[in-house]
Amino acid sequence: MLIIRSIEKMQSYSKKALLKGKSIGFVPTMGALHEGHFSLIRAARKDNDLTAVSIFVNPAQFGPSEDLKKYPRNLAADLEKCRQEKVDVVFYPDAKQMYPKDYSTYVSVEGLSDLLCGTARPGHFKGVATVVTKLFNIVAPTTAYFGQKDAQQSVIIKRMVKDLNLPVAIKVMPTVREKDGLALSSRNTYLNKKDRIDATALNQSLNLAKLLVSGGLRDTRRIIERMHQLIARKSSAKVEYISIVNSETLKPVKKISGSCLVALAARIGKTRLIDNLIVRDAL
Ligand code: AMP
Repeated sequence: MLIIRSIEKMQSYSKKALLKGKSIGFVPTMGALHEGHFSLIRAARKDNDLTAVSIFVNPAQFGPSEDLKKYPRNLAADLEKCRQEKVDVVFYPDAKQMYPKDYSTYVSVEGLSDLLCGTARPGHFKGVATVVTKLFNIVAPTTAYFGQKDAQQSVIIKRMVKDLNLPVAIKVMPTVREKDGLALSSRNTYLNKKDRIDATALNQSLNLAKLLVSGGLRDTRRIIERMHQLIARKSSAKVEYISIVNSETLKPVKKISGSCLVALAARIGKTRLIDNLIVRDAL
């Protein structure tokens, strides 16, 4: 497995591979790798000649009061796991290279970035869209793999790729969960014992939404109310938002019709977690 730190070296690796007719499957990550990331890596390996993973904790997507400094980092373990997963190349740049002092160009996907998580995290998706554009220009993947866990991110990246005519296919893979339903996240390591138990309410509330929809309830205000009630039973949980939106436009819907995204963010203790589920009126 190659570990590349320099942007130029990564670009020349990909150029050579593409000239030889090889396809490159790419999984961008912030490290602290878990089974959610591995599911993307395995999909990339299955579909492509070469698999590239980037590990970069992107400062541009963290707000000033967010957890950039304490975000979990474990490079040695991540590299070992990438080796086990038979990744061909890990791109691991440093922030100075990605954002030199005179850095001044940003990608902003308007209309989708200030909804849902964007309300509490202004600038977050601008940071994500910018780094993903840069990584696509550096790694030059044939296909890039993202997780449904970050549903809004996937919608934004798909729109960005379409709007900017970026020559990369986007695949979104299902959310990988713990046995009790908690969506895997690098931030789960912040949870103490009580938080960890209370965190299961997030997935439970999504399952409740699905159950209500399959039972015929279409009024999203009532579904959201029931989800709030379920999460409120957990003392360490504080909901930031629960929304039911059109899965492409991310605009709130009043009645479930077609495919809708039920998305939420909540603080469990001090840890902000997100989760989501697609529901359909004809289940
Ligand atoms: P991150 O390292 O948190 O930036 O995530 C890197 C990629 O892994 C993103 O496309 C995420 O959506 C995806 N991912 C994170 N957690 C999960 C999960 N539990 N299941 C599937 N994909 C995930």
